[in-house]
Amino acid sequence: MTYPHLLSPITLGDPSTGLRLRNRVVMGSMHTGLEDSVRDLPALAAYFAERARGGVGLIVTGGYAPNKRGWLKPFASELTTRLQAMRHREVTGAVHAEGGAIALQVLHAGRYGYHPLSVSASRQKSPITPFRPSALSTRGVDRTATDFAHAVALAVKAEYDAVEIMGSEGYLINQFLAARTNDRTDAWGGTAEKRMRFPVEVVRRARDLVGGDLPIVYRISLLDLVEGGQTWDEVVELAHRLEEVGVTVLNTGIGWHEARVPTIITQVPPGAWRSATARLKSEVSVPVCASNRINTPELAESILAAGEADLVSMARPLLADPDFVVKAAAGRADEINTCIACNQACLDHVFQNRKASCLVNPRACRETTLVLFPTRRAGTVAVVGAGPAGLAAAVSAAERGFAVTLFEKSDALGGQFRLAMRVPGKEDFAETLRYYARRLEVLGVDVRLGVEATPADLAAYDDVIVATGVVGRVPELEGVDHDKVVSYADVLSGAVVPGRRVAVVGAGGIGVDVSHFLTHDPADTLDDWMAHWGVGDPSLHPGGLTERKPRTPVREVTLLQRKTTPIGAGLGKTSGWAHRAVLRQSGVVQLNGVTYERVDDDGLHITVDGESRVLDVDHVVLCAGQESVRCVYDQVLVLGSPDATPRRAHLIGGADVAAELDAKRAIEQGTRVAAAL
Ligand code: NAP
Ligand code: SF4
Repeated sequence: MTYPHLLSPITLGDPSTGLRLRNRVVMGSMHTGLEDSVRDLPALAAYFAERARGGVGLIVTGGYAPNKRGWLKPFASELTTRLQAMRHREVTGAVHAEGGAIALQVLHAGRYGYHPLSVSASRQKSPITPFRPSALSTRGVDRTATDFAHAVALAVKAEYDAVEIMGSEGYLINQFLAARTNDRTDAWGGTAEKRMRFPVEVVRRARDLVGGDLPIVYRISLLDLVEGGQTWDEVVELAHRLEEVGVTVLNTGIGWHEARVPTIITQVPPGAWRSATARLKSEVSVPVCASNRINTPELAESILAAGEADLVSMARPLLADPDFVVKAAAGRADEINTCIACNQACLDHVFQNRKASCLVNPRACRETTLVLFPTRRAGTVAVVGAGPAGLAAAVSAAERGFAVTLFEKSDALGGQFRLAMRVPGKEDFAETLRYYARRLEVLGVDVRLGVEATPADLAAYDDVIVATGVVGRVPELEGVDHDKVVSYADVLSGAVVPGRRVAVVGAGGIGVDVSHFLTHDPADTLDDWMAHWGVGDPSLHPGGLTERKPRTPVREVTLLQRKTTPIGAGLGKTSGWAHRAVLRQSGVVQLNGVTYERVDDDGLHITVDGESRVLDVDHVVLCAGQESVRCVYDQVLVLGSPDATPRRAHLIGGADVAAELDAKRAIEQGTRVAAAL
């Protein structure tokens, strides 16, 4: 398939003097943590240069504050001086050298600033930060609008091709726009018209300062998804005013960070927000950019082909695969490493004050330190086990030029990922397996499915990478071999279809996923998804938020753990709250501090708070963690003498450490071991 709309050029601004983009792919703004220190500028330049080389039409940087009060955290990225602007030329120069274009995003965090200097339209504290902001004075608002314009002018000095003003996701500009956070009575609040004045002034002053041609992108919040958010009429009115004062493109944002509706994580259906973008596009004449939960060229193309937007913004998909565009253009879309919207290595890292990377592409943001150099020796490599760790090792080693053989004892690639992709909302995990399968084919890896490698099979290789993974732990429990007791693998693979009443033993990530799997109604549509999360028509409900429609769980599930900590406490920073909410919405009974006694015909016998209980269930699903499988590694080592082959054996993934096993560590370890061969 070709992508005629996605790959067609577009000129932003005046047709003869504006900025011509080679295609409609915008790499959306995403903070990576590389923006915050001068020391990291070379790494940031390499990160963006790789995406420019990969054909992205327009890159947008992470957010830079227009003044210190606008920092995201203490000493976070800002663009306030000429010296800083000059230093940015390393970044812009690297992108231009690859034929790309790059915009700087100006972002004032407002009350989302994680520091005591934060300011906002009013004094209300956000529910997601510990600091209560000061309310900007009337003159302070005026100065802040000028600071925005000043940052835009500095971006021009830094040789950026465009700027983006961040007006969504609940940051300062959004805080001015919504009655929820703006209770001012001066010229900057009180009525919808006055609340709009701040963003309009920001754009007007920026345009006045930089003149006609610089494309100014404004990221507008289409659905605030919070109580007291903007009405649709207000959003449209703002869009018109921004057009009048010289905005070039309207990019779109969905949901404030404090919204309790997931907007970009795995369980959000791909393309969920396209209709909101289409609605804005029908109201304005400047180009509109769609964004949020768009992760394949097919979906991006369909949005453009349907006339719902003029550009498509993808941030995480470009982290996952810097060559997204060139692969799509070359008819190699089946080789794209698709973002699975897990947030585990990108946003979760950033919110933990760590540098971003990507679960499926551990080289993201490490372009200068994790490099797959071509090998200078003609070595042979055997990889044992085709779960995420083994797949990453096999593909990375083959990319370096090694002759690779991949042994997998089952008849399919994927290991634990094959189970994960059966969880509702994790269907995209199948894309990762499609990517690896195709890369193995293209790279000519000798894949031997259905073969349990023996030490004799492995003796002829220079390097053996053992990635034999894990098996589900079977706890010591009386009656564990009763017919009612099944493993999570049996359930997710479909080998067992549990009855109506189920107890889930173990409430880690997999116990939570299995509970969702067991209660989810497979007939649910996108409309049902919206209704369950209370997303309504913004012209009827301000902020697009309405009453939630209860879910109808298809089973009665009790989820248990021995610890007394809240269930799901260890889940991802940016997604855990949504998984916990789904459990509540699905009526999953959650019990902690449980002692398991036995399983028999009556069900699962437990003690909670010193009281004995029997859960009368049809099935007990074990989700009690995993144990490493590594016998082939031990056998290979036993063979070892200084002259023996294989010369080197490496143990990676769950076979190395089963505790807290996760695909992020597995794929990174597989890539690193191959990089070091
Ligand atoms: P896990 O997170 O280690 O959880 C295993 C659970 O089993 C624990 O909650 C533990 O709780 C319980 N358990 C351990 N030993 C037990 C025993 N002998 N008897 C009874 N219960 C026992 O493992 P997992 O759920 O299998 O997940 C593996 C990894 O996959 C996770 O660490 C995560 O990285 C990844 N994952 C993440 C997600 C997500 O974030 N959404 C989803 C799926 C998988 P108690 O000891 O308190 O009972
Ligand atoms: Fe996408 Fe997950 Fe990678 Fe983030 S870590 S870019 S969400 S695949």
